[in-house]
Amino acid sequence: MAKATVKIPTPLRSFAGGVAELSLEGGTVGAVLGTLAEANPALKRHLFTPEGRLRSFVTIYLNDEDIRFLEREATPLKEGDVVSIVPAVAGGAPSASSAASPGRPRGRESPSATGTFSRDELRRYSRHLLLSEVGVAGQKKLRQAKVLLVGAGGLGAPAALYLAAAGVGEIGLVDFDSVDLSNLQRQVLYSTRDVGRPKLMAAKERLEGLNPGTRVVPHEVRLTSENALDILAPYDVVVDGTDNFPTRYLVNDATVLLKKPSVYGSIYRFEGQVSVFDARHGPCYRCLYPEPPPPDLVPSCAEAGVLGVLPGLVGVLQATETVKLILGQGDSLVGRLLLYDALTLKFRELKIRKNPHCVICSPHASQKGLIDYPAFCGVTGAATAIEGVPQVEPEALRSELDSEEPPFLVDVREPGEWAIAHLPGAHLIPKGELADRVDELTRAAKVVVYCRSGIRSAEATRFLLDLGFANVRTLHGGLNAWAQRVDPSVPQY
Ligand SMILES: [Zn+2]
Repeated sequence: MAKATVKIPTPLRSFAGGVAELSLEGGTVGAVLGTLAEANPALKRHLFTPEGRLRSFVTIYLNDEDIRFLEREATPLKEGDVVSIVPAVAGGAPSASSAASPGRPRGRESPSATGTFSRDELRRYSRHLLLSEVGVAGQKKLRQAKVLLVGAGGLGAPAALYLAAAGVGEIGLVDFDSVDLSNLQRQVLYSTRDVGRPKLMAAKERLEGLNPGTRVVPHEVRLTSENALDILAPYDVVVDGTDNFPTRYLVNDATVLLKKPSVYGSIYRFEGQVSVFDARHGPCYRCLYPEPPPPDLVPSCAEAGVLGVLPGLVGVLQATETVKLILGQGDSLVGRLLLYDALTLKFRELKIRKNPHCVICSPHASQKGLIDYPAFCGVTGAATAIEGVPQVEPEALRSELDSEEPPFLVDVREPGEWAIAHLPGAHLIPKGELADRVDELTRAAKVVVYCRSGIRSAEATRFLLDLGFANVRTLHGGLNAWAQRVDPSVPQY
């Protein structure tokens, strides 16, 4: 006889005393299911035909194998095996007419308690009100909740849409960008006609159009150590959808100091991470990553690319965790790091422990306030990266290229970017390979380095100057400036 865990799926739980899993003894899968059915006659009708055969719409798994490919009900059990009952479900939310018994929500409030919701609101949120875990009380919590989204980009866009749809009463957005055509591949909050408009203006219209009951508060600023505590203070939950390390550490430290949960999401090419950091109940982001990676090591989405649907899923997971925190339902991702790989379509989960020596969230934390995050992350920022580096303007470069002694052009972008567009006669050396391939450049030559927007090329130029190159400059504004000011036939991206 082995002891196995039997997992009861949600649709059948009301026939099994409401429990999600049971520990039962038996020698085979069939024996354990038999014991389960005898103890729960209501469940028995759902699992077995009157003749005692398993119903065809119920699939039984032993661990991750379908028992039909094992020895069916005669499959022997080992200690610790997990037997899962997987019924077919139609999907979607039940319609109002089909939602009576047996899934009648428990503890649902009487109609008089719904008085504070208008008829339209009751209709709008009906699929929530049918869930006992939400109901009228939960919907009120959502309406009273204030959520701040830091970043209205790839992660913030889907999160904001679902939080507004769910009926979150106030959504604050921190962002200062305008909508760019290259955003629309993933930032589903915006439409083509929004290109060029401030993101927050477009977002406010879209979200309040989706749900007039949601108040959208735009914070059109860069989040800094000076303004972060004031901006975050009024909100219950902070959703971290930033795309850079200085802001990530800033959001973490500010939420630790303000004793608020931060719902973390990050994306890179085909991979995503999600967690909930709440130093009152678990670890913080710094417990996981005490220090940021060197700025050169991790390129941004603009440089590395990102699969458009990836932030959709990660942002929706963040919205899910936010709604659960507001409702006080389920098990949050506090202390767990969820890893998602879109290419293999696999989720993994890792434990995150609270660091007893964490500088910000441990009892003897050495850091009592916010710090200089760009300096902490070694990020000098675009302005400083370019500062002091010799530049050439696009118009000047064009006349130099037409001259008798044209400069040698070095393109430090990635091969995929080169394929989109490049300058004639240029030599491709991705920035990461520059140190190894520097011999391909003649030290005496006149060199102009370019990239997409002028940041990477400025860093590469500084690197070459430090190596002793005498005549090396960066193309100011990169290929995008070239396209705007010299050659409109070059595509911008
Ligand atoms: Zn910590």
